[in-house]
Amino acid sequence: MSVTHRLTAPAPGWTAATDVVVVGSGVAGLTVALNVRKAGLRAMVVTKAVLDEGSTRWAQGGIAAALGEGDTPEQHLDDTLVAGAGLCDEEAVRTLVTEGPDAVRRLIATGALFDRGEDGEILLTREGGHHRRRIAHAGGDATGAEISRALVAAVRTDPGVELIEHALVLDLLTDSEGHAAGLTLHVMGEGQRDGVGAVRARAVVLATGGMGQVFSATTNPAVSTGDGVALALRAGAAVTDLEFVQFHPTPLWVGPDAEGQLPLISEAVRGEGAHLVDADGVRFMVGQHELAELAPRDIVAKAITRRMQEQGADHMFLDGRHFGAEMWEHRFPTILATCRAHGIDPVTAPIPIAPAAHYASGGVRTDPRGRTSVPGLYACGEVACTGVHGANRLASNSLLEGLVFAERIAADLADRHAAGELPERTVDVAAARAARPVPLPPSEARAEIQRLMSRGAGVLRSAASMADAAAGLALIAEQAHSHVAEEKPADPRVETWEAANLLLVATALVAAAAQREETRGCHWREDFPERDDAHWRRHLITTLAASGDPVSTPEEQ
Ligand SMILES: Cc1cc2nc3c(=O)[nH]c(=O)nc-3n(C[C@H](O)[C@H](O)[C@H](O)COP(=O)(O)OP(=O)(O)OC[C@H]3O[C@@H](n4cnc5c(N)ncnc54)[C@H](O)[C@@H]3O)c2cc1C
Repeated sequence: MSVTHRLTAPAPGWTAATDVVVVGSGVAGLTVALNVRKAGLRAMVVTKAVLDEGSTRWAQGGIAAALGEGDTPEQHLDDTLVAGAGLCDEEAVRTLVTEGPDAVRRLIATGALFDRGEDGEILLTREGGHHRRRIAHAGGDATGAEISRALVAAVRTDPGVELIEHALVLDLLTDSEGHAAGLTLHVMGEGQRDGVGAVRARAVVLATGGMGQVFSATTNPAVSTGDGVALALRAGAAVTDLEFVQFHPTPLWVGPDAEGQLPLISEAVRGEGAHLVDADGVRFMVGQHELAELAPRDIVAKAITRRMQEQGADHMFLDGRHFGAEMWEHRFPTILATCRAHGIDPVTAPIPIAPAAHYASGGVRTDPRGRTSVPGLYACGEVACTGVHGANRLASNSLLEGLVFAERIAADLADRHAAGELPERTVDVAAARAARPVPLPPSEARAEIQRLMSRGAGVLRSAASMADAAAGLALIAEQAHSHVAEEKPADPRVETWEAANLLLVATALVAAAAQREETRGCHWREDFPERDDAHWRRHLITTLAASGDPVSTPEEQ
């Protein structure tokens, strides 16, 4: 299979070569790069902005692993399967929970400093859906920043890892057999590597993170525009579970018209005993679930949204006043500072919160070794769907998934290299040219796509709301086509490429969410409020039709 569609872009003006090209520099991408190096392969990491500019550095709560006394991978597996609401791939989860503890130890050996008690043991906290304290954290609530710091320091000192920052990857390149052979990218640089170029490689790893930016309100940074999923679709790869977007229950509510990345009040704050209360001070989670505020995220997000509707309010509150100043300062220094910067002091006042898009449980479908349906194209981290999260991710399983499956990809590449199955590849230039160029929407389309998605495919979904969203998205696509026909196309540049990726991912997400006529995990249909195992205990597999439209097909049961 070769790439069927590509973003409209100038022909590459420069080329480079490596063994393994990794797209993205979060926990997943950097872990792949460091580990393929150990197998004697050269790695090139290309990343859209600076190295630590992804979701990884924003992760607060921590990383889940059965490290504590009395905890076992089996118990971690049970909690993960419950959160996943019948759609987890049990073998993938088993891999995660059994390989997880050692993967965390290897991360510590790489230099990440986790919080420890006076006895030197790693401190563990609890988060929603976990029946045990098993979340390791760093810097109190700055776990991702510490992981990112340690991994960035490690790749910077490895001469076998080439780093290209400010490089937006556009599309996959294949050889004449349809095997991944490299990629095209746009570098905002100077000198030889400036503008659109091509990197030739023996294998390509997508580690591009999430897609939260398809919604107006999200905890994800600006770079999380779903580029990896869009690239994979254009390359003919299968993606799955796109409808399962986790909405974090407690981002800081900063006003009715807030857009873009919102500050997060970590679940760990509830883990340490903060209460969710409504405007009257009533703890509305008590009696709704045995774990009350620590119920799985979808349950908490739904309960908050329901209560907001009942009370005609646009936010609820998280009350951690009983922690006292000292605990806030030592356990949650970042959150405390962020709240205070927004004029709220959690020591003396409840924190206003409202749900926002947080995590993509679905993504590019992979097997247990991170291989996608396109040979030589791998995916790991949030862009991938390994089957670990099912219909809903258990809190703090994502950093762990990024680590474990990145290591597995590196192991697969090492094995193939050792077996002589990872030869240099020659790009099929004719096939790349034959791929249909996707018309680019104008950069202003980004905000419109986000509004349509938040209104039509957010925490509350129905056939009618999603039909509205789909119609709006189709109109944006039609206008982009018309502008090409009228010879007034949008300029190919970062903003319009990102808008095209957002449009494709949003369209695919809405198509899948409209098709899944049930409520499961973090997919909540108002018009189909029950879980329907008879019809829907299966995945929707999305691919791109020849027309360029995403098509979702239910997997055989
Ligand atoms: C606020 C917040 C708090 C979180 N807290 C936790 C937590 O406590 N525990 C937990 O387990 N998970 C948490 N998560 C989720 C977790 O942080 C992410 O799922 C995880 O870090 C994703 O890692 P990644 O390596 O896949 O992607 P990222 O860290 O997002 O990195 C993606 C990389 O890809 C690059 N990229 C994207 N597109 C392109 C392109 N076209 N070309 C080139 N480069 C590209 C980006 O620039 C970036 O470098 C949190 C997420 C957020 C947003």
